Amino acid sequence: MREVIERFIISSTPAWRVLLAVGASLPFFLIILIGHGLAMRSPEIRVGLDLGIMRAIQWLVGLASVVNLSVAWRLWPRRHEPDPVPTETLLVCLSIGLGYTLTTIWAGSFTAPPSVVLMGVLVVGLLLFERRPMFIAYVLCTVLIVGYDIGVLAGVMPYAPAVLPEAYLGDAGLPTWWWRIWRLFVFCAGYAVILGLVFLLFSRLDGLHKQLAHLSYTDGLTGLANRRRLMEALSAELARQRRTGQPCCLVMIDLDHFKQVNDGHGHLQGDEVLRQLGALMLRCVRSPTDLAARVGGEEFALLLPDTRLAEAEAVCTRLREALAAQVFGEAVSRFTVTASMGVVESLGLDAEPLLREVDHELYRAKAAGRNRVCLQACRGGLTLGAGA
Ligand code: GH3
Ligand code: MG
Ligand code: MG
Repeated sequence: MREVIERFIISSTPAWRVLLAVGASLPFFLIILIGHGLAMRSPEIRVGLDLGIMRAIQWLVGLASVVNLSVAWRLWPRRHEPDPVPTETLLVCLSIGLGYTLTTIWAGSFTAPPSVVLMGVLVVGLLLFERRPMFIAYVLCTVLIVGYDIGVLAGVMPYAPAVLPEAYLGDAGLPTWWWRIWRLFVFCAGYAVILGLVFLLFSRLDGLHKQLAHLSYTDGLTGLANRRRLMEALSAELARQRRTGQPCCLVMIDLDHFKQVNDGHGHLQGDEVLRQLGALMLRCVRSPTDLAARVGGEEFALLLPDTRLAEAEAVCTRLREALAAQVFGEAVSRFTVTASMGVVESLGLDAEPLLREVDHELYRAKAAGRNRVCLQACRGGLTLGAGA
């Protein structure tokens, strides 16, 4: 179900959304056409209806259905394209809006306030569809409804024009059962549309929120966590560590002589190296507990919760050797890349001193000749043991 919602609503293109609107409105039009048809054939009901107006409405609703179908026919091949489809959106919004408006006017719009329904549709629809076509359709329908109601109040227009006096019962002028049912149906159908749109809207907002959250925590080139995500995870992990007393290691990784890779093989090749390192990092760590991040440029980090220094060293050595063994480039311009790493096991350190200590270890690894891992365990700033 989630996949269906994801595919058809959250990641939907403008064309898909118009197709969804067509799919939702066609059953409504079909019920109207069948309902009107049956009413016009029933001897009990037809005496209370102006058959000329009813036929005109049948033609208009039929026309709206044909417009919807032909728009769907046109849009189906373009359903995956991201471009806006203003003409088709306008046609569908107009045909749905006018179809609904005319259906409510003939049945008496005072008792089934379509303006309330239209207002709801507008609020939600504006967020789902392109604004301009939606707005044009909305203004037209509102003018029709409000204009008609003013006409009725001024005595210029008849109320419920398709309903004859025979549809009223007795001296009290109560509507007949079929008229009451029809008005209720039109009203409920309008609200069903609003509910459907609200559901669509919230699914879409939910999806957009997830996409944004993912983007704001992800490095675009490698797909790893970015600096922001690392910092948040680091603070959370250090707080947890203070509570539980579990060990935790932080690793900083910097590619060796990466400038030369860019200068000698080009930036694109450099980017490929960064991507490959990201993939290697993901292969070397335990997911989902460990976090692999690109901190910036050609600097990466690993956050390894519940991990002792010796275990972190093993992870780093595996990663370092895997990277050194990887051959990049093609034919004559093949090359390999190495990385230096600093590792610190934190025993109650805060984020800032921990980052300083890891930088210090990375600096030591560079100074000692690169392509190596330097490490130490720190308790509250106190170095407990170091090694390379
Ligand atoms: P060292 O061994 O001392 O780390 O040498 P280095 O050449 O790696 O030195 P430094 O860290 O100063 O250089 C980083 C280089 O990384 C500079 C920049 O051109 C390159 N770089 C940073 N971000 C990117 C990126 O997104 N793509 C590519 N291709 N290169 C990048
Ligand atoms: Mg660097
Ligand atoms: Mg470097």
